[in-house]
Amino acid sequence: MANKRVLVKFSGEALAGEAGHGIDTQILKYIAQEIKSLVDAGIEVGIVIGGGNIIRGVTAAQDGIIKRTSGDYMGMLATVINGVAMQEACEYAGLQVRMQTAIKMEQIAEPYINRKATRHLEKGRVVIFAAGTGNPFFTTDTAATLRAVEIGAEVIIKATKVDGVYDKDPAKYSDAKKLDELTYDQALQDHIKVMDDTSIALAKDNSLPIIVCDMSIQGNLLDILNGNMQNCSIVK
Ligand code: UDP
Repeated sequence: MANKRVLVKFSGEALAGEAGHGIDTQILKYIAQEIKSLVDAGIEVGIVIGGGNIIRGVTAAQDGIIKRTSGDYMGMLATVINGVAMQEACEYAGLQVRMQTAIKMEQIAEPYINRKATRHLEKGRVVIFAAGTGNPFFTTDTAATLRAVEIGAEVIIKATKVDGVYDKDPAKYSDAKKLDELTYDQALQDHIKVMDDTSIALAKDNSLPIIVCDMSIQGNLLDILNGNMQNCSIVK
């Protein structure tokens, strides 16, 4: 097993299921099982979950009534709601799990302390990093990249609904081609948009490979970490 420590990023929307919003517990259960397969294989796993299934700062601030900064704090709180749910699902699956938040709320979770997080990981506990970076105007993709670098993850995996990165939108163009491997500079191109520019720049500066994969294929996360890269793309 080449990758010993990984950071997996799930979008908030991924938790919503058919309803398109809220939290689908069956999806939580599925994700927790996928995570468990990694832990059982001896991989240390950190998780970041978005908040888009509940609220996003930009959308909340759309008509000017709610300020962007407040909207972003609402978004960060949404990631905590998702984190609490994910923590429960991980425990239900039999995993040991701790949540740490970038904004202190000690009745709910530990504050983010890097050394404590790495200690949890060493003990085989899954660590959920919630509340994004703790700062408005950032995304959970950036939070995920930041935490991945901080904990010394070998790779960040962005678990999505698509099996990788395409040269153009596969939903719009039938001749769209999947790119198995691309450079950080390619990933920064507007029409590709693997993640936002801040997170890609951070990954590039720290030579952190980014894997984009389809989370709906059961076993895909473990397959990828075992070197089967069929249903993913890698940015490095
Ligand atoms: N957010 C933020 N700072 C961060 C991370 C997130 O302000 O460091 C806010 C931002 O408003 C964002 C929301 O939290 O829209 C939810 O995160 P995101 O949109 O990244 O979630 P996803 O799209 O992955 O579900």
